[in-house]
Amino acid sequence: MSTQHPFQAEVAQLLHLVTHSLYSNKEIFLRELISNASDACDKLRFEAIENGALYEDAPTLEIRVSYDKAGKTITIEDNGIGLSLEEAIENLGTIAKSGTREFMQRLSEARRNDAKAEGALIGQFGVGFYSAFIVADRVTVESRRAGLPPEQGVRWTSEGTGSFETETITRAKRGTAITLHLREDAGEFLSAWRLKAIIGKYSEHISLPILMPKETWDKDKNEYVTSDEWEQVNAASALWSRPKKDVTDEQYIEFYKQLAHDGDAPLLWSHNRVEGATEYTQLLYIPSKAPWDLWNRDKRGGLKLYVKRVFIMDDAEQLLPLYLRFVKGVVDSADLPLNVSRELLQESRDVKAIREGSTRRVLTMLDELASSGDEADRKKYADFYREFGAVLKEGLGEDFANRERIAKLLRFASTTSDDVAVSFADYKARMKPGQKAIYYLTADSLVAAKGSPQLEVFRKKGIEVLLMTDRVDEWALQFLHEFDGTPLQSVAKGAVDLGELEDEAEKKAAAEAAEAMKPVVEKLKTVLAERASDVRSTTRLSDSPACLVVPEGAMSPQMVRILKQAGQPVPDTKPILEINPGHGLVKKLHGLIGTEGPFADLAHVLFDQAVIAEGGLPDDPAAYVRRVQAMLG
Ligand code: ADP
Repeated sequence: MSTQHPFQAEVAQLLHLVTHSLYSNKEIFLRELISNASDACDKLRFEAIENGALYEDAPTLEIRVSYDKAGKTITIEDNGIGLSLEEAIENLGTIAKSGTREFMQRLSEARRNDAKAEGALIGQFGVGFYSAFIVADRVTVESRRAGLPPEQGVRWTSEGTGSFETETITRAKRGTAITLHLREDAGEFLSAWRLKAIIGKYSEHISLPILMPKETWDKDKNEYVTSDEWEQVNAASALWSRPKKDVTDEQYIEFYKQLAHDGDAPLLWSHNRVEGATEYTQLLYIPSKAPWDLWNRDKRGGLKLYVKRVFIMDDAEQLLPLYLRFVKGVVDSADLPLNVSRELLQESRDVKAIREGSTRRVLTMLDELASSGDEADRKKYADFYREFGAVLKEGLGEDFANRERIAKLLRFASTTSDDVAVSFADYKARMKPGQKAIYYLTADSLVAAKGSPQLEVFRKKGIEVLLMTDRVDEWALQFLHEFDGTPLQSVAKGAVDLGELEDEAEKKAAAEAAEAMKPVVEKLKTVLAERASDVRSTTRLSDSPACLVVPEGAMSPQMVRILKQAGQPVPDTKPILEINPGHGLVKKLHGLIGTEGPFADLAHVLFDQAVIAEGGLPDDPAAYVRRVQAMLG
């Protein structure tokens, strides 16, 4: 007796997308289903470490792919862990992954804008099991979970529309057989040659044998006929365990695509056998595009852990720090025990060594690219940086041991370059004689940064300032106080001290101007007592009347805005107002010193304009507008 179940709403949506938009690359269904079959075998092997009886009488794990030309079906069968009735209902009727809703939303946005972007998104997500419906209008899954008696098998059937049916069956074999009843337009896949070609392309290096019925030429019938004999159609050698020299670039790329469920080739990779206190093989890939959920810090890492070629776990987050979560690949340890658990991984010294080694490897790989003499490599690095640069910066706060190496990899725009291409080293090489610090400014956007009044004196003196516009910059930079012996100094924090970059005459003139402005400064302190923690005369401005700076060590207004947007509590620090004694409006203020209302109005307007200039909004916009209108009138 069968029972009908509705699909979870997201699955129904996903199925709709799958059946309507994946026709351009139909063949990936086989990669996805073989990958699931291989995962199911890996799971069995893992569970069997504790319970050998799960192997029943079939200890050789394998995947079989066959087709029936007359019946128009393809069957993918594995003898892995299998599914119980409950698991079939749960796993083949919902999408367990977090972030699915967001994914669906992005997908339909991409769909409206650009069909290609949509394809790439689906590729990243890996539609998994549901990709069966790209080629099939009916799918039957028969399965039995390893360890359950034969009568507790399950049959799952669906036409990929709103619902699926399940029933209990008797199934002698453990594991799962998925039968695809092909759509009219998918007849091309009823060919051994075609299926072998797809397996060769995507699944050559999964570590399990994939078998297909052997075909022989029948002279009388003048066609190929299937025999009862099965033959292995893939190499089934774990790619990473082969010597580098025996692996071609194409093989590395295909392996990546299936490992990462990514349609694009990786940007670069590194394959090494590490020997020493702990022995392991690492094959690390850097994708060419950031995944849609790169910003999800809860997302697990992208490395699969194997022990002596036995799969242990996916997404082993202990193997790389969080800021390298975009790296994909495989680590195969020769030393860890097979029954290692996630908890155990946390304490293992071998894992610590692997983590350090892999981190160094990734950073070295990036550094080689960034500092390569080859133009094409540097362009690749720029591509990498555009996709992942902001995540890399998190490393400044997360990985103190490698802070210097990370800092070396960072790139910024500056007052001399709109491209995000200036490294700290480039900057240092261009520093003026007598310049003591690396100057930088954080802002919400490049336009806001370039228009900032704080840059005026630096422009006038031809001193380069790095312009940082990533949200993480301000946070990350607080962990980096210097680069290669030169301190970093925010131009929006504390007083400017250009030291030897100012000559005696300038210093004297500034001191005199400040002296002359003393009464204005004192009166401003009273009038703006609620808004400014201090008021002072400055030399940093040439064209603007005033600007805001924050005390050394305090949070910038930009950081405060970010935290407020994120709903975080923020300390209420008042900024310092700096005024330009040479500016007409400040001189006007000096002239108004004997008045109350007019002085206060101009003072508030100058303060509000300083807020606007650094990307904020006046606390009381209406009052600001009223004051400016009164002055204009
Ligand atoms: P994913 O594999 O990314 O988790 P899928 O949609 O491909 O997502 O599969 C959903 C779930 O169905 C899997 O996580 C697994 O639990 C189960 N499943 C799919 N194929 C098999 C199989 N061949 N054997 C056992 N379980 C399977």
